[in-house]
Amino acid sequence: AKSLSLFGLHVKNTTMAEAVDWITQTQADNTQIGFFVNVHSINLSISDPTFFNQLSNANALFADGSGMRLAARKAGFQLNGNNNGTDMLPYLCKSCIKRKQSIYFFGAAPGIAQQAARKLCKKYPDLNIAGTEHGYNEGKHTEQIIESINNSGCDILLVAMGSPLQEEWLLNHRDKLHCKTALAVGGLFDFYSG
Ligand code: UDP
Repeated sequence: AKSLSLFGLHVKNTTMAEAVDWITQTQADNTQIGFFVNVHSINLSISDPTFFNQLSNANALFADGSGMRLAARKAGFQLNGNNNGTDMLPYLCKSCIKRKQSIYFFGAAPGIAQQAARKLCKKYPDLNIAGTEHGYNEGKHTEQIIESINNSGCDILLVAMGSPLQEEWLLNHRDKLHCKTALAVGGLFDFYSG
């Protein structure tokens, strides 16, 4: 199955390579939104109907973590991959280099996205990081941030502000974004900045 119904959500049953292909090869005219769904977000979606609706409005939900595999197995499905963002980033970087696509990092504490970008560019010298912005703007400069993201010409936007803030931000602003794909990535920049 290419998509499974788990806890009322349509979760993609993709290998890591298929998930990266979806992210970098979308042909849609509008920005495609992808979220990573793990056991933590499932719990949140059960207690918070607004968050459940937000997850339902993504263009793709990726199964993140072994808890999702167990849940799928309980429901009688075999998940083809663990599409967690931390393991995915190296593959995403390589695919971006191959396809000449650029990435923008938005979120985490001041300096963290920048530091993660520096480290990744050291590891992947051909990687094109179009820009970075921290995630503690308290809604003040949203229009400027969107302008900066759009002016960067990035193909892929990663938003790391934790759930449900990052999902809410992406759904609220998807129509103003010019990138091909935007993903909500949680603590990803913290991990890669260290
Ligand atoms: N964050 C942010 N703005 C905020 C609140 C959080 O940029 O207003 C960042 C925080 O610094 C961290 C990330 O969001 O880098 C959340 O990471 P976490 O691992 O908690 O993500 P989750 O498990 O919620 O997906």
